[in-house]
Amino acid sequence: MTDSTLERKYTQVSTLISEVYGYPKWRQHLPPVDELVSTILSQNTNDVNRDRAFDTLKERFPTWEEVRDADPDAVIEAVRVAGLANQKGPRIQAALQYLTETQGAITLDHLAGMTIEEAKAWLTGINGIGPKTAAIILLFALNRPAFPVDTHVHRVTRRLGLIGKKTSREKAHDELEAIVPPEDFYAFHLQIIQHGREVCHARTPNCGACFLQPACDYFQDSVG
Ligand code: SF4
Repeated sequence: MTDSTLERKYTQVSTLISEVYGYPKWRQHLPPVDELVSTILSQNTNDVNRDRAFDTLKERFPTWEEVRDADPDAVIEAVRVAGLANQKGPRIQAALQYLTETQGAITLDHLAGMTIEEAKAWLTGINGIGPKTAAIILLFALNRPAFPVDTHVHRVTRRLGLIGKKTSREKAHDELEAIVPPEDFYAFHLQIIQHGREVCHARTPNCGACFLQPACDYFQDSVG
C-alpha cells in the first residue's frame, strides 16, 4: 500500500472513530517517574492489579528514594498482586538507582530537553524498558510525540490494514508514527484501545456491529 493510500485510510478511520468515541484531549496521567514505575508494574497484568500494586508500593514507601533503598524482599512483597513480582520489584529498584546515578536524583526531567529519538533511546537503555513502555512515558507523562503500541493497538491496526499483516508489535511503533500525525497520537492511541476492548476483540471481532467496516481490510477480505 502506498503512503498516500495509508494516509487516506488513516483519515477515514480517524474521522469515523472520533465521531463515535470523541477526540480525547491530552492530560497528564501520572508524573514521569510514577509513570515509569506504573508501566513496569503493568507488564503481563491488568490495569486493576497494576494500580493496586502501585498504590500498595506508595503506601508502604511514600517516596521513590525509600523504594530505591528498601529491602528488595519488601518491595517484591508490596507489588506481589501485579504478578512477576520477583522480576518487577528488582527492576523498579534498578531503574530508580539508574536515575540516581545518571541524573543525580530520581527524575526524568532531562527528557524534556532531548529530541524524541534521543529520549526514546535513553529510556530503552534502562533494563526492562522496551519501545512500548518508553512511548507510554513520553506520551502520557510528558506530552511528547511517541505512539505506544500495546496488544489492542497492534491487533486492531493490523486488521484495519494501517500496518502490515506481518508487522511485529515493536516495528508497529515506527509504521504508525509514520502515518498518524503527531498531534493525533494521544487521541488515536486511546480511541483504538477503546475499540479493541469494546468491538474488535482478540478472539472474535464483532464486525457486524463495527462502524469501521468501510475502512477495514479484515472485514473487506471476509466479505470477499
Ligand atoms: S470491521 Fe471487524 S476487524 Fe475491522 S475493526 Fe471492526 S471489528 Fe475489527
